[in-house]
Amino acid sequence: MPALIVLGAQWGDEGKGRVVDLLAAEAQVVARYQGGHNAGHTVVVGERTLKLHQIPSGITRPGVLCVIGNGTVLEPLALVQEMDEVAGLGFDLEALRISRAAQLILPYHQALDQAQEAGRGAAAIGTTGRGIGPAYTDKAARSGLRAEELLNFDRFAARFRQAAAAKNEVLTRVYGQPALDIEAMLAQLQPAAARLAPHVADTSLLVHRALAQGQRVLFEGAQGTLLDIDHGTYPFVTSSNPTAGGACVGVGVAPRAINGVLGVVKAYTTRVGAGPFPSERCDEVGEHLVQMGAEFGTTTGRRRRCGWLDTVIVRYAARLSGFSGLAVTKLDVLSGLPALRICTGYRCGGAVSEDWVPVGYALDDCEPVYEDLPGWSESLRDVRRWEDLPPAARRYVERLEALAGVPVDLISVGPEREQLIVRRNPWDVMRET
Ligand code: GDP
Repeated sequence: MPALIVLGAQWGDEGKGRVVDLLAAEAQVVARYQGGHNAGHTVVVGERTLKLHQIPSGITRPGVLCVIGNGTVLEPLALVQEMDEVAGLGFDLEALRISRAAQLILPYHQALDQAQEAGRGAAAIGTTGRGIGPAYTDKAARSGLRAEELLNFDRFAARFRQAAAAKNEVLTRVYGQPALDIEAMLAQLQPAAARLAPHVADTSLLVHRALAQGQRVLFEGAQGTLLDIDHGTYPFVTSSNPTAGGACVGVGVAPRAINGVLGVVKAYTTRVGAGPFPSERCDEVGEHLVQMGAEFGTTTGRRRRCGWLDTVIVRYAARLSGFSGLAVTKLDVLSGLPALRICTGYRCGGAVSEDWVPVGYALDDCEPVYEDLPGWSESLRDVRRWEDLPPAARRYVERLEALAGVPVDLISVGPEREQLIVRRNPWDVMRET
């Protein structure tokens, strides 16, 4: 019963969507385990470009069961809109299932998120303002509404009115914002609830049964390791656990059911929003990466901060999630840079550390330590075999592999499905072990 987790090894936007899209071709179930519609995956299928936020990337593969797990937070209005877009592109939504226990992001969460972020002033953490943090806050406070409530709209409405009235108090008294119109929000939510209700299910049981029947289940992480609320660059993090442990909690499967963990690593480093970023480059190298890598957010359109590959981070991610393999994405973006650098450690107060420095702010006092490697000028976009990569590109990947201590299974050299070099099929590796 092969179960494979795919997750981001850096600060998100590693290209997980296209890796999941590829692996879903051989899976029977794809499950999202955390995050909300702040996540954004771009999947290119021939002429069609899907921008997915809440729907698992497996939706592009007919017959694959797509699960929105209990560990996610889901925005009903946005999900219905996304379903319309996906259906409009000709993909079938019959196999979409929503966990009964997934928390709902409601309009007041979004209003609160934006008011809170504005209130932070210079200490803003760069949230997407979509209500993710406040929805997870309500989950932890045990006052959230869950997807199962959509099955009985009268009961939902009663609970919603009570919760929204309490949020209006906070919005008006604490943040000086206008109160939200509760009945207008309910009128918007009712058709969305009716649309989503048939998709609500006991998804933990569905996944358990699939595994028991020997089916392949892919667990799809959103964001990335350094955005993990416990292990990331707190407070510049997301409100959930993208690391591998989050997959078990967020779908309702036992750790013993997991057979493999694939870490997705961009060939350089990017992050969106504020927070520490030791190998950031604000010069022509950063500009090359932004322009050649089209580093603008799928969800927000925000320009991403860019810098050299940091293997301290990748090693840290491998330790936290137990990577069995790596998928390296966007290697093609490095073409044309005459010299490359890989960050291998940090010099903090005289001593060099090769381990991640877990205190977010302390990183500001650390200098990255670099290893220099030769670049290559050739385009990689048409390369499909490892042997056909320029020697400098192979050497770069081999250094990443050695420094991370994890084998590189997949290398992507462009956004299209076929722009890929497969060294080991992650599903086959699991069959062998
Ligand atoms: P995700 O959230 O981790 O899936 O990442 P995003 O979708 O936000 O960002 C990845 C972007 O890079 C998307 O626009 C992809 O189409 C694109 N992409 C993925 N792999 C490659 C690659 O190997 N080369 C290039 N040039 N673009 C890629």
